[in-house]
Amino acid sequence: MAQQQFDILTIGSGEAGKFLAWTMAKSGRRVAVVERKLIGGACPNIACLPSKNVVHSAKVADLARHAAEFGVVTGPVSIEMATVRARKRQMVDGLIKMHLDKFKDSGAQLIMGEARFVAPKTVEVRTDDGATLVLTGDRVFLNVGTRAALPNVPGLEKAKPLTHVEALELDRLPEHFVVVGGGFVGLEFAQALRRFGSRVTIVESSTQLAGHEDPDVAEAILRLFEDEGIEVLLNTELLEVQGTSGQQVKLRVRNSQGERTIECSDVLVATGRIANTEGLGLDTTGVELDSRGWPDVNLSYFGLMPHAIGTGVGFPFLRSAVDAAWRQGPRGMTVNTCTADHPRALPTYLRAGFRTLRQVREIWNVPLRLGMRIPERLLG
Ligand SMILES: Cc1cc2nc3c(=O)[nH]c(=O)nc-3n(C[C@H](O)[C@H](O)[C@H](O)COP(=O)(O)OP(=O)(O)OC[C@H]3O[C@@H](n4cnc5c(N)ncnc54)[C@H](O)[C@@H]3O)c2cc1C
Repeated sequence: MAQQQFDILTIGSGEAGKFLAWTMAKSGRRVAVVERKLIGGACPNIACLPSKNVVHSAKVADLARHAAEFGVVTGPVSIEMATVRARKRQMVDGLIKMHLDKFKDSGAQLIMGEARFVAPKTVEVRTDDGATLVLTGDRVFLNVGTRAALPNVPGLEKAKPLTHVEALELDRLPEHFVVVGGGFVGLEFAQALRRFGSRVTIVESSTQLAGHEDPDVAEAILRLFEDEGIEVLLNTELLEVQGTSGQQVKLRVRNSQGERTIECSDVLVATGRIANTEGLGLDTTGVELDSRGWPDVNLSYFGLMPHAIGTGVGFPFLRSAVDAAWRQGPRGMTVNTCTADHPRALPTYLRAGFRTLRQVREIWNVPLRLGMRIPERLLG
């Protein structure tokens, strides 16, 4: 089988990998990116951008319902979820086209298929059109990203709950939408669905919504959500699920007031992310995975084996964090300085609004583990 050699080979076309690929290709390197499905990664296809598109529709619905308060008199407001979805799909199609143009203009080769390592810097790719390719890279980047985690709750998997992927494809308005998980993803969908007109309940196991935020911010979000008519159950554990999402579901939950059963039409699970590292053949590369499947970036940091970049290395799951780190690095860098954990990324994180030492520590896990110190002046 013919082997193709590249200077830079990136597995996954997500936020971290695509900018790297385009920049490196423009600077004259031979670059290939292997992508199994989402051209440009999760952000433009099934995450940040389509969710903001739907959130915006929900905001319009909310404004229309409250228009009279602004002195604007409208008739009765009704929601067409099929139109909401069509608008979102149109935007995603445009973004895919934009990404394809970027690949073409930069000269980075986009190969559609599933990659699997067969040696430290060699992958075998089953392409979408049925061919098998073998690709090697002087520098290889793992940008395989994450997907929604499904907590191990009896009956949950069988109930076929929505994740953000399916929720963004809803063409009907759920009657009662239960969101399991009160992090950013859950909050976005909870508020949007409420504004479209669903009854919405959030089930959150910890003491506050938006667990990464400071308590006063979380409290403000809670007040706002309750004002909008969203039921928020904090400190509440999901014990069991019966039924099928999209039809009828019963969720047995427990909190300090005891046990109760919530009956609803749809369940969205937004309880965190897991890395897309299984089945990737990483055992052939020397990259070690921790117990949760995240690559050990201490080793990949030095470029002896594939570099792990993007959210798939367990950093804060924000596109902006990946992007900020990338923007910090490019001029004159050697390619491994664009890893999200590079010390030069720190000021950018701070400027991007990572305020507390805890947040900085989370991002700066690797330099800290390597024994580096955060200069006090940067923490301001
Ligand atoms: C609903 C939602 C809303 C969000 N909103 C925001 C927001 O407003 N702001 C923000 O900053 N962040 C947001 N995020 C987070 C953001 O989407 C992620 O941080 C970002 O997309 C991660 O980029 P990445 O490059 O690490 O991985 P990804 O974008 O996930 O890219 C990884 C790519 O690798 C491909 N891949 C995986 N395995 C293989 C393989 N074996 N072979 C070939 N290809 C493979 C995948 O198909 C995927 O395209 C949101 C996330 C969600 C779920």
